[in-house]
Amino acid sequence: MEDPGSAPRILVGRLFHESNGYNPVPTLKSGFEIHAGDDVLTSARGSGTTLSGIVATLEEAGVTPIPVHAAASPPSGRVDHGFFQETLDIWLRAVERIRPDAIAIELHGAMATTESTDADGDFLASLRATAGEDVVIGVGLDLHAHITPRMLTAADFCIACKENPHSDVVECGNYVARLVTDVLRGAFHPVMTMAKTRMLLPGKNGTGERPLSDMHRRARELEATHPDIRDLSLYNTFRFLDAPDIGQAVVVLTNGARTDGKAVATELATTFWDRRTEFADDLLSIKDALHKVRAERADGGFPFAIADMGDRVLAGAPGDSTVILAATLDHEYPFKAAFPITDPAAVQSAQAAGRGATVSLSLGGTVTPGLEPLHVTGTVANLTDGRFSMRGPYQEGETTSMGQTATVTVEDRISIVISSKPAFSHDPNAFESQGVQISGLDFVVVKSGYHFELNFNGLAVPLLTATPGLAFYTPGGLPRKRSRFWPDHDVAEDWLIPPRVFDRKGSAVRT
Ligand SMILES: [Zn+2]
Repeated sequence: MEDPGSAPRILVGRLFHESNGYNPVPTLKSGFEIHAGDDVLTSARGSGTTLSGIVATLEEAGVTPIPVHAAASPPSGRVDHGFFQETLDIWLRAVERIRPDAIAIELHGAMATTESTDADGDFLASLRATAGEDVVIGVGLDLHAHITPRMLTAADFCIACKENPHSDVVECGNYVARLVTDVLRGAFHPVMTMAKTRMLLPGKNGTGERPLSDMHRRARELEATHPDIRDLSLYNTFRFLDAPDIGQAVVVLTNGARTDGKAVATELATTFWDRRTEFADDLLSIKDALHKVRAERADGGFPFAIADMGDRVLAGAPGDSTVILAATLDHEYPFKAAFPITDPAAVQSAQAAGRGATVSLSLGGTVTPGLEPLHVTGTVANLTDGRFSMRGPYQEGETTSMGQTATVTVEDRISIVISSKPAFSHDPNAFESQGVQISGLDFVVVKSGYHFELNFNGLAVPLLTATPGLAFYTPGGLPRKRSRFWPDHDVAEDWLIPPRVFDRKGSAVRT
């Protein structure tokens, strides 16, 4: 800090995108929810994001955060490089103008652009080059980040949330802010050690189920027995990227280099490898899922929320699959259900027909390879701009947009919420804001695999189904040009990417 007597100048903001490298549709600026200036803070406060946690903790400590920019989009295809560059320039100009003491930022960590597979690394490296060596850069990431040496070289520290579904992102932001202020007052000298295992998780990504629950318990034990460990993050890399050195990552953040971060990182990286076959999925087929819904609803159970695992918008799929809708319309039982489908052309047809009109639509199946459009006749029940505020708790209060949206009903029992953009259907307000009440249904389909469990808690029972699409991982199912990992490849000889230490301050803090 230039003047130890005054409050530190800390830039804050957010650039959040998980990029599905196999979705052919690039994500343009129009796909992002963007806040600038004071609006960054206003929208963050109480929003249930990592940035909200950063802002809250700084303000509680009497530090006024300096807002720069916040941009977030549902996961989708790679980000248009022009928009990435425009956003980066806003940050670099702010750093040059304000000359901050620190930067506390939320990134997803698995962002790719139309020109780069390590956009978060590019972003942080540019920030570091402009800010200089002494500015503290602290980063809060999603645990599905594809974390790279470039990111860890540029930042003072990166930490991830610990829960999937992500119930602890605010706490992650609180901790980022505390660590940044600790570094500023000389009480913390961050050293990071990263090891990776060349493998993807074939299924079982939830941190509440084994083996991940066991691994997180062990991580907390290690933190408790090594006081110098300030954070231990386990990264379950996003599976729909094709980038060098993809894998499960363990990053140990220590205060100085007294603790043997390499031994800790290697232990957990080895556990991933030793228990790899336990990560296999046990999802239901669509047929079995509908059977279960019918049986349990007959007994008076809650509505269900059926996760369309292959077409998860929350994993960057287009949201255009009608596979579960087709099975429901073909089924002998007259289910009451609601479906989200992305199809801008069908929305235009419904708008042209007008509310109350009968429409015949060719629905979905145009972006995801291998899927077919479904022909549906129904009534246009609602037409909106698709904006809604999330119920939460994940992303509570955040405003999001599905783009122009039409709700079409079929046989007075099926509601299809047709959005122009891939939509956040992991939140019940995606449906209720369009006039579709969850409580009267047998089931609702969501294009999410984990987070919907938080936001539908108390409204619907989660049910995960194996469905085709760009977000369903099957070994060998996608062409991989840049990456090698189990179970797609034989990596028995080099499954471990050995631990590497990232120590910005060097040996001066080793003793
Ligand atoms: Zn995630």
